[in-house]
Amino acid sequence: MKPFTYERARTPAEAAAAVASRPGARFLAGGTNLLDLMKLEIETPQHLVDVQDLKLDGIAPTKEGGLRIGALVTNTALAADLRVRRDYAVLTRAIVAGASGQLRNKATTAGNLLQRTRCPYFYDTNLPCNKRKPGSGCAAIGGVSRQLAVIGSSDQCIATYPGDMAVALRVLDATVETVRPDGTARTIPIADFHRLPGDTPHIDNALQHGELITAVTLPRPLGGRHSYHKVRDRASYAFALVSVAAVLQKDGTGRVAFGGVAAKPWRIEAAEAEMPRGAAAVTERAFAGARPTHDNGFKLPLATRALAATIAEGTSA
Ligand code: SF4
Repeated sequence: MKPFTYERARTPAEAAAAVASRPGARFLAGGTNLLDLMKLEIETPQHLVDVQDLKLDGIAPTKEGGLRIGALVTNTALAADLRVRRDYAVLTRAIVAGASGQLRNKATTAGNLLQRTRCPYFYDTNLPCNKRKPGSGCAAIGGVSRQLAVIGSSDQCIATYPGDMAVALRVLDATVETVRPDGTARTIPIADFHRLPGDTPHIDNALQHGELITAVTLPRPLGGRHSYHKVRDRASYAFALVSVAAVLQKDGTGRVAFGGVAAKPWRIEAAEAEMPRGAAAVTERAFAGARPTHDNGFKLPLATRALAATIAEGTSA
């Protein structure tokens, strides 16, 4: 691991200013992804600003009838919260489908959103990767790409966003609250938070350097039946080949987002209009323009079958 300096911030504004003042600085919270990447020298921050002392670990009702989740609420605490289990069950189900109990005890809400791709070439510093080293190339294109994106990719990068929690947040239309280095706050819809790679695959999300996530806010509960269906190579502690987060209503309408298929949770609202016609109609529209690789075309029928299973589960209970 490369040497780095370290400080503990006392307020969100102080943390944001501390990172913004140094180009090579990063925030540190649970560290479940960043520290691994530092040990592999994929991430080499010169300075860490530890935010774990900040008072961002509460879950509180909003005046609009939703919930405001502090950035440092652990994945375990969020999944177990009775209000989340009752009113936002898709979120609990997505969280417990990810990682392991030990990791969820340490991982935070903000950190979960910020986890980096698990593209195997991103982790191999001997091979080119535009996300790790801009302009170096993409070893995954033409390589082993079974796990990688089928839609929204570019000629620069075909990585997927690996998380589960954000797929549920996308279905729920959550918003991400931040504080910028100048102390001002802003709100980012979850739909705009993660970025498709385009020509800048090294930029994963909409945050500026030094912008700190302070909370994630959920709107009023949607009601309906909540499901999270994750298809993976083994039953636990594996990333999704395809996942489906769904909120289904009794009248046959619903919302649906997919994980494991793109560099961001994949939700096409216009495709949800096809819900009464069944899973194939939804995925035909949601994945219009898909560009699977030689290795991962199976993800498209898998997405249809995963959604069909989710709908069947939601209507049989
Ligand atoms: Fe890097 Fe993206 Fe290519 Fe993977 S797909 S090697 S992350 S540029």
